[in-house]
Amino acid sequence: MNALFVHPRIGRKATAFLAREHKLLIGGKWVPALSGRTFETYDPGTGRIIARVAEGDAADIDLAVQAARQAFDGGAWGRVSPSERGRMIWKIADLLEQNADELAELEALNNGKSLASAKNGDIPLSADMFRYMAGWATKITGETLSISTPGSYHAFTVREPIGVVGQIIPWNAPLLMAAWKLAPALAAGCTVVLKPAEQTPLTALRLGELIQEAGIPDGVVNIVPGFGPTAGGAIAAHPDVDKVVFTGSSEVGRIIVKAAAGNLKKVSLELGGKSPVIVFPDADMSVAVAGASQAIFNNTGQVCSAGSRLFAHKKVFDRMVDGIAQEAGKIRVGHGLSEGTQMGPVISQVQLERVTGYIDQGKAAGATVAAGGSRVGNEGYFVAPTILTGTTPEMSVVREEIFGPVLCAMSFDDDDLDRIARQANESIYGLAGSVWTRDLSIAHKMARRIRAGRVGVNIHGSIDAALPTGGFKQSGWGREKGHEGLNLYTEVKSVIMSL
Ligand code: NAP
Ligand code: MG
Repeated sequence: MNALFVHPRIGRKATAFLAREHKLLIGGKWVPALSGRTFETYDPGTGRIIARVAEGDAADIDLAVQAARQAFDGGAWGRVSPSERGRMIWKIADLLEQNADELAELEALNNGKSLASAKNGDIPLSADMFRYMAGWATKITGETLSISTPGSYHAFTVREPIGVVGQIIPWNAPLLMAAWKLAPALAAGCTVVLKPAEQTPLTALRLGELIQEAGIPDGVVNIVPGFGPTAGGAIAAHPDVDKVVFTGSSEVGRIIVKAAAGNLKKVSLELGGKSPVIVFPDADMSVAVAGASQAIFNNTGQVCSAGSRLFAHKKVFDRMVDGIAQEAGKIRVGHGLSEGTQMGPVISQVQLERVTGYIDQGKAAGATVAAGGSRVGNEGYFVAPTILTGTTPEMSVVREEIFGPVLCAMSFDDDDLDRIARQANESIYGLAGSVWTRDLSIAHKMARRIRAGRVGVNIHGSIDAALPTGGFKQSGWGREKGHEGLNLYTEVKSVIMSL
């Protein structure tokens, strides 16, 4: 077995965590996989192995589902009052903050993102999500209904927890994705089996320890790292899972829908995107350049709502492209734990090949590289912030989600908002979009015309816990975050009483 790589900038607590055995959390106990197997997890900044983690598969998922079922049906979670539930969820947020440095280091090491972005973004945003949802635990209500059936009735609705929920998450923001999934499920009173992405299991496992520390009863949250087709597939197909909630590729989304058909479990999906950034000639150019650059290069472009298609009016196209290229040139690409890094690597060798493969396809199809265009260095999985111009709607780089720091820049020479919107909406995806203008009328009209679950005006997006996100078209089913996100985890029951 290869020795584990210990990064010199990792602190004492994170080092101690990495040195522990990484097991599965099932029924409140940390256990090895039944098969005894483990898998390796990597530092994408060096490609070196940083930990070995128990590899759960169908048999472990089955135990986890039994534990979650027992915690749900046996009443351990149901007996906790909403106020106490809210208090425990809030405590998770406190514990995330108390362990922020350790979590940020683990996230930067395992995912590759900069330590600063983990510290200032992922960790506080995860805590925010738990706090936001903690507040909902005491505010789950139904309605009293006016009934027209002859007679005398009292009729009302109640919202009940959906039951045992399976959650399958990706690697682009490992802790935040876990928070977005777990917080509303817990607030609603569900029990959970969570499978982190194979590339990034570490912060989810640390979160599991904090969830125990917060007093969440055994079996309410079960965490089973493992591979998609085995552990993930078993969650999606399990006959005793009431709902599966997934974030990841549209391709796997389709597999999950099919697997869920067996017991017709409920399904929510947050899938890919190819979001447009539409810049009108009256926009504040410095705001639009900075915003468009952030929209595509943030998190190395590994964001489902990344603004990956720029549509700028002909009058401002050159200024936008030159401005974003300048920004791209200034971004310090480096190891997530190196001082001053602004953009880390992509997650894996597979993603490196995928992203550079797309850039090559774009070039072969006639696109011009206006910035970046290749891998950086030969250790770790770094890609230069890239802009392609001369891209056209039929090119794969314009049609498909690249999930890397690659912007396709296109122009329009038109004042007809319907035609501009049609061009921007020409995608199988509909996750997000943004409009850059100082004209209030254009802003409102375009916000309505964009076929996507989230539209920004003079901002590409925000990941505020209160703001629902999700997809039109093939970008998914349902909305996460906000009150909508809580409702993903409840069933409505109507009760009618003849008086
Ligand atoms: P992915 O395969 O969709 O992975 C997402 C999650 O689904 C992971 O936990 C994965 O497990 C699991 N999974 C994979 N196959 C499964 C199956 N048959 N049944 C149940 N669960 C399964 O994404 P990826 O391979 O990491 O990335 C590929 C592309 O997906 C990216 O290039 C990007 O375009 C897109 N993506 C989108 C998002 C998003 O936020 N919308 C996030 C990540 C990736 P494993 O980790 O073991 O594969
Ligand atoms: Mg995969």
